[in-house]
Amino acid sequence: MNNRVHQGHVARKRFGQNFLKDQYIIDSIVSAINPRKDQAIIEIGPGLGALTEPVANLVDQLTVIELDRDLAHRLARHPFLQEKLTIYQQDAMTIDFHQLSTHYDKPLRIFGNLPYNISTPLMFHLFLYADVISDMHFMLQKEVVNRLVAAPNSKTYGRLSVMAQYYCQIMPIIEVPPQAFQPAPKVDSAVVRLIPHKTLPWKVNDMTLFSQIVTQAFTQRRKTLRNSLEHHLTTEQLHSLDIDPSLRAENISLEQYAKIANWLSEQRTNIN
Ligand code: SAM
Repeated sequence: MNNRVHQGHVARKRFGQNFLKDQYIIDSIVSAINPRKDQAIIEIGPGLGALTEPVANLVDQLTVIELDRDLAHRLARHPFLQEKLTIYQQDAMTIDFHQLSTHYDKPLRIFGNLPYNISTPLMFHLFLYADVISDMHFMLQKEVVNRLVAAPNSKTYGRLSVMAQYYCQIMPIIEVPPQAFQPAPKVDSAVVRLIPHKTLPWKVNDMTLFSQIVTQAFTQRRKTLRNSLEHHLTTEQLHSLDIDPSLRAENISLEQYAKIANWLSEQRTNIN
């Protein structure tokens, strides 16, 4: 059998299609999600239903978002799933999750074995809806999970770590080898749980500014803050915030980034 064909469907690389086939892994993910009736459960990228079927067995209703038209049609004709599914044949990046949550009148529980090519931008999209999400379970590249949970002073700590930890508490759940998928991806994978904070530990007043500062610092991660942030604040101003200007982006904690952004936004408010 062609290794790209699974259940009669030819996997489309451009949609990041790697279908789960390992029952032990599937069971572990479903038990980590622990879906219950009367919850607003959303799956991104249901594909051929490897996770959709066991989750649907436990609930009465499930919303799925699938970009591939053939797969969405297949799910719509599925003998037992069709009655339970609300299908959005759409790019998950274009979904307004506030609207979905209003529709259900409940916080959302979101899960998916995400297409790896869009997993990071998709998570950034979802962070904008953190206030209406109760939790998320995602299969990602293991390397992305490592970056999500990374602490300062490590090579993997970066923009994704800071932004994700701003919004969420993050827990790795299980590592998944390439053989668990058909076709097998070239990289190791891992499942992670993200729980948006009910109260943000370090509240930022101007998210755009915060995001700019973090991006700017990590775009030039080898430079010291004194240099990478020179257009925003001086060495003395960094000192006054108790931040050593000779440190690099990877040495700065989320709390310190929030402190810099809030101080800058205060300065701008005072000027205006
Ligand atoms: N959930 C299935 C499984 O575990 O076997 C399929 C996972 S596969 C890695 C990713 C799925 O996401 C595919 O079904 C693919 O068509 C779908 N997909 C890709 N890009 C998407 C997007 N932008 N929005 C929604 N679904 C997308």
